[in-house]
Amino acid sequence: MSNLAGFIRGSAINNVFEIARANLRDKTNGIYENVLFGLIGSLVAAFFLVFALDTPNTHSLKVIWLVIVAIITSLRFADWLYWFIKLRRKKYEPSRARNRVVLGVISLALMWCIYAVVFYDSMDLTELALTFAMLCTLSSGANSALSGHKRAAILYTVLLLTPVSCMALFSGISIHFYLGCLGILYNLSVAFSAARAADLTEESVKIRNENAYILEKLHKEAAQVDEVNGKLSEAYKQLNVTNESLEKEVERRTDEIRVLSSLDPLTQLYNRSAFIQQLSETAAKSIKSGHSVALLFIDLNGFKKINDTLGHKVGDAVLVEVAGRIGAFANDYQAGRWGGDEFLMLLPYADHETAISVANALLARISQPLDVMSNQLYLSATIGIAMLPEHTSSETELIQLADFAMFEQKKLHLSAPRMFSQDLFENLKQIENLRDGLQEAINNKQMYLCYQPIVKCKTKQPWSFEALLRWNFNGNLVGPDTFIPLAEQSGLIHEIGAWVLNRACIDASQWQHSPNASVSVNVSIIQLLDSDFIDILDRALKTSKLQPERLHLEITESMFADNKVKVKAKLNAIKARNVQVSIDDFGTGYSSLSQLQTLNFDTIKIDRSFVLNMHQGGEAIIRATLFIAKQFGCKTVAEGIETEQEALTLSEMGVDYLQGFLFAKPMVNDDLRRWVENIET
Ligand code: C2E
Ligand code: MG
Ligand code: MG
Repeated sequence: MSNLAGFIRGSAINNVFEIARANLRDKTNGIYENVLFGLIGSLVAAFFLVFALDTPNTHSLKVIWLVIVAIITSLRFADWLYWFIKLRRKKYEPSRARNRVVLGVISLALMWCIYAVVFYDSMDLTELALTFAMLCTLSSGANSALSGHKRAAILYTVLLLTPVSCMALFSGISIHFYLGCLGILYNLSVAFSAARAADLTEESVKIRNENAYILEKLHKEAAQVDEVNGKLSEAYKQLNVTNESLEKEVERRTDEIRVLSSLDPLTQLYNRSAFIQQLSETAAKSIKSGHSVALLFIDLNGFKKINDTLGHKVGDAVLVEVAGRIGAFANDYQAGRWGGDEFLMLLPYADHETAISVANALLARISQPLDVMSNQLYLSATIGIAMLPEHTSSETELIQLADFAMFEQKKLHLSAPRMFSQDLFENLKQIENLRDGLQEAINNKQMYLCYQPIVKCKTKQPWSFEALLRWNFNGNLVGPDTFIPLAEQSGLIHEIGAWVLNRACIDASQWQHSPNASVSVNVSIIQLLDSDFIDILDRALKTSKLQPERLHLEITESMFADNKVKVKAKLNAIKARNVQVSIDDFGTGYSSLSQLQTLNFDTIKIDRSFVLNMHQGGEAIIRATLFIAKQFGCKTVAEGIETEQEALTLSEMGVDYLQGFLFAKPMVNDDLRRWVENIET
């Protein structure tokens, strides 16, 4: 703060000096401007007095005086010339020039004073009067010529008139006395007006210079403001350019990051979240313009097998190749990978017909042979389609519906794309209802067990009873093929499975009609792999006090492939408790024999489909199965025996046990008792 004040004060002082110097320079210039006329006038007057009047006594002295005057005049002329050429137009330092010019003026005035005083006595009245007149003229001329220097102007007048006037006053000659009086009066008035003129000059010069200074300062400031503005606008322009390129760079980087974070790293198609984002944007646009959007859910068939048999590297390469084929059909990255071997494709502005023809073309493209790591592979896909807004207005539901359509189609093993429909919608609704109902099915006592006998081939006496779960959902009987997968998906299978195991063990332990018959309980793979499963098993055996040998656990063959190690460990734990293990639906799971060899099981259940198709190739499979069972040292059960002929054939083939409607359909516990009692009589 004090620095700033000091700076302002300093610059103010500088300004005052600057103005004072300019004032002095102007006043000096004013004096110089009149020098030439003054000198000429003075020289002419000097020559006139010396040569025009006849003064023989003093002539030589006057000539000497004139010579001195001429020298002073020459010096002053030289000084004027120097000013005129060198200084006049410059901002020169005025004090020295001013001193010189004032010295010149006073010197000449002094010479005139000397002239009047020295030659006074020799002058007659005429000469005296002329001299007076001359001095008065010179002094009045100096009045304005010396207005730039007040003291010099007054001194000049005083030097010119006062001594000669005083001499005239005191000469004792009356006419001289009057001249003296006039001279003094004139001297006073000239001195007074010289002082006034000097004051006026002083004032006007001062005002002019202050104004000039202010003006100059204003110009300077305006120029500075212009300069600053210019620099600012230049900087602003540069900033704009920099900002623009910065913005572009940021935009580019943001796009890059967005693209990278949006893509599935393996297939370079949109990942889940990016696809959903794209879907909602496209959906909003299409709905606004009154068009529909088709969503294709593409699921590969047989990919799992490729992955399992040829390894993940080949699997990945297949996914990349298929993604490329799908991507080639999709515009603007409107294809995505939903996960695993599932892909999605978005068709904006598409109707049913377009969606189905694109899906067909896509299926044809995907089915073309793939050359992957020197393997020629054949792959197919199943496509489900859902339309927005026709089927739903929610984007996530749209994906679910297309997935559902695909899933339903896959179950039917049909190659054509499946459009979501009202029927499917009803199905879906029903499934949702079932899923909701399943939560409370056990608590509401809607679930119960039926038992289906498995009889010995030779005696037809019951060997085991398979517990088959039934669900009476609000008066409708829902089949296990429908609700078991739902229970598996929702995780309810653990609770339901534990209930089944417990119930079956208790029932079997109370079968007085068949105290040696076993109970076969179906166990889902999810249930089996649950870490609590063995505890649940132990608890069921403990509560029911059922001998473990009387319990058979049926595990579906198709589940083995994925979980070999874990399944093996579980089977060993089960066998360690003396509980029997059956492989259910044998022949449908395509398990390799080497895999089966390492597993600990007691019975193979030949799937009903082979019995049903006995004459269309099923027989060979059954014979092969029987051979394997013999090799492994295990028993065989044939499922789905409906006719005597089937029973006969199978028993001739060497099957140990039979199960099917021929003997009995699944029955509730009471009916089972009656059935046993019935066959015994
Ligand atoms: P599964 O274990 O293969 O059971 C045999 C199925 O074949 C039963 O169907 C049975 O009713 C049916 N069946 C038996 N003999 C014949 C026949 O001669 N002709 C015909 N047409 N069918 C016959 P269900 O009861 O509908 O059970 C279907 C599947 O649901 C079972 O197949 C089993 O995998 C599963 N399941 C049933 N109950 C349970 C359970 O408590 N837990 C688990 N995890 N799965 C269960
Ligand atoms: Mg079974
Ligand atoms: Mg079966």
